[in-house]
Amino acid sequence: MSNLRFQALNTVLSRTIPEVKAPSDKVSDFYACNVFDKKKIKEYLSKDAFDSVNDSIVHGTRIERDIAEQVASAMKSWAIAQGATHYTHWFQPLTGTTAEKHDSFFEPAGDGTAIEKFSGDALAQQEPDASSFPNGGIRSTFEARGYTAWDPSSPAFLMGKTLCIPTVFVSYTGESLDNKAPLLKALSALDKAAVSVAQFFDKSIEKVNASLGIEQEYFLVDLALFNARPDLYLTGRALFGHMSAKNQQLEDHYFGSIPDRVLAFMQELEIESIKLGIPLKTRHNEVAPSQFECAPIYEEINLAIDHNQLLMDLMDKVARRHNFKVLLHEKPFAGVNGSGKHNNWSLITNTGKNLLSPGKTPKNNLMFLTFFVNTIKAVHDYADLLRASIASVSNDHRLGANEAPPAIISIFLGTQLNDVLDEIETSRVTSKMKNEASLWTNIPKVPQILLDNTDRNRTSPFAFTGNKFELRAVGSSANSANPMTILNMIVADQLNKFKVDVDKLLKKGEKKDVAIMTVIKRYIKESKAIRFEGNGYSDEWAQEAEARGLSNIKTTPKALDVLITEKTEKLFEESGVYSKREAHARHEILLESYYKKLQIEARVMGELVNNVIIPASVAYQTDLITNVKGLKEIGLKEDSYAAQMEIITKISDHVNFIRTNVKEMINARKEANVIEDVREKSIAYDEKVKSYFEPIRYHVDKLEQLIADDKWPLPKFRELLFIK
Ligand code: ADP
Ligand code: MG
Repeated sequence: MSNLRFQALNTVLSRTIPEVKAPSDKVSDFYACNVFDKKKIKEYLSKDAFDSVNDSIVHGTRIERDIAEQVASAMKSWAIAQGATHYTHWFQPLTGTTAEKHDSFFEPAGDGTAIEKFSGDALAQQEPDASSFPNGGIRSTFEARGYTAWDPSSPAFLMGKTLCIPTVFVSYTGESLDNKAPLLKALSALDKAAVSVAQFFDKSIEKVNASLGIEQEYFLVDLALFNARPDLYLTGRALFGHMSAKNQQLEDHYFGSIPDRVLAFMQELEIESIKLGIPLKTRHNEVAPSQFECAPIYEEINLAIDHNQLLMDLMDKVARRHNFKVLLHEKPFAGVNGSGKHNNWSLITNTGKNLLSPGKTPKNNLMFLTFFVNTIKAVHDYADLLRASIASVSNDHRLGANEAPPAIISIFLGTQLNDVLDEIETSRVTSKMKNEASLWTNIPKVPQILLDNTDRNRTSPFAFTGNKFELRAVGSSANSANPMTILNMIVADQLNKFKVDVDKLLKKGEKKDVAIMTVIKRYIKESKAIRFEGNGYSDEWAQEAEARGLSNIKTTPKALDVLITEKTEKLFEESGVYSKREAHARHEILLESYYKKLQIEARVMGELVNNVIIPASVAYQTDLITNVKGLKEIGLKEDSYAAQMEIITKISDHVNFIRTNVKEMINARKEANVIEDVREKSIAYDEKVKSYFEPIRYHVDKLEQLIADDKWPLPKFRELLFIK
């Protein structure tokens, strides 16, 4: 049979489950065995060289050339001993994925033989002739090259037979062309700002690291079914598809037992992750059928993000071996939940303290409140920037949809902490307060164990969950570097302002704790509008948010406007994260990616309608017509073929509708394509082209319901979501 759908279904029925075996029963036996981590560096390097590398890892100091030479040589020896043949700089260009260009270790020795070579230079820098990576006009062809530079704070690792070296990617003129370089700059700004504030409380704090634990949601579909759906393999989401009769209404998938085939995939994913030092710890079903989640234990943020990027790669590779396809798209299937990437974020000091963890003593509580309230204030003041950092064409389908956080940024704290802030707001803390004792009686006790922790509000895009904030609005396919760069930068900026505000009061002779409390109280007042405890998915909230003056920017092209406002430019420059040129370049790249993805979706939609849906519908209609003709011929009356006539007519109506609308959509595309300004073009794609998607889909899905099952060419949702 030529129907790909049935071939695919047959293939699925013959699947067997591959055997999965861990190298050892004890995870500790093979944890990070494919990582050139500190332990191995120590083993392979002289003590001086190790100290120098370690210093660079901890403090970001420069590594001298001769040390780089030693590290390269050590890395090479280790990698070759593990069977590696190639090396690559591994980086995160603005395409959102990771990139690598493999070079072989061997070099001709000049006498007809070859040697294995890897120099300090090759470790430190590579020029991946990357003129076709997005650069937003920064790297015009005459200045040609970008280069990658080693990031010693993220260890090298082995993928198959290739040694991968995490790097940043910058243009020849020094502008960053990737996601890692700005993140590192934001983290350094945060470290500085947080340390100077933390020193109000504890002089032994010299370093503050942001920590991140990323929960990754995804869908798994059978590879054969996936390959029979051009929309899935070209756009990552089903552009058509009638909802399955059973979907998530019984709520029986979440935390249910994991199907055997999926479990085998998860087990192998965990083994491969563990080998790469990714501490994958949690796995479970998610709400939608065929939707799952995995999460590692949290790590230092730069590493956590590298690990998540690597994990997404690994998921794809491992899935193939199990004849699955991982869908990381935020909304692959209309009508069931979409996928996100919860970013659990906290601030950890060199003394091992989590600054977002409520303490036992009032003094500790004041420190907690300081970082807690400053984060809230930062998100309040820069909500639009945070919104922009999670904006993408695919996340637009999810944000604001009825089972996902809205495009309105708000913060959920839980009743207890909300009450604490309310109490402080109305307390009698004033700058005239004579002694600190009366201050302490005015600071409400922060409960150490937060009850809401178990009953947290899942509808909030940014929630406090006990000892960390959780940014839930990040899309499942996104690189977390983007939102985390923004979050860390705005918190750094806010902490700097806090320091200035407190210092001002200190100069006036205010007692330190009173000064701190006075500023906190003011911030609580000023940022009140962003706090919301109710149902974020409700219409009432959208109305209330508007009344509170919060933005609700539903689509990406407009959400991105904030990247190039004067306020943002100033913030970017002051924090050292982006120059004006870089910010503008990024703005352009994001817009380009936005409309290009819509352009692809629109084309795929047109092709499927014209070449797949209409032919299948007409073929079935022809069968019915033949049948009606036959019935007439043997002398039957009209009411005996009334049903056939009804279906024949309906097919014509739907076919006419989709044919006409696809033509109109193509015209709208042509009009959008000639618009020069990339923002205008993106808006045209959103408002004039994308607006055809829903109506076309509606009629295609109606056809799916009318046409005989064995004539329908595309795997149906029930098959994609339920057959394992
Ligand atoms: P869930 O939100 O699903 O209930 P958890 O809150 O236990 O799950 O953890 C989710 C993620 O948050 C995990 O990656 C976990 O390691 C991480 N996490 C836990 N505590 C912290 C913290 N203090 N800072 C950052 N991430 C954390
Ligand atoms: Mg969570």
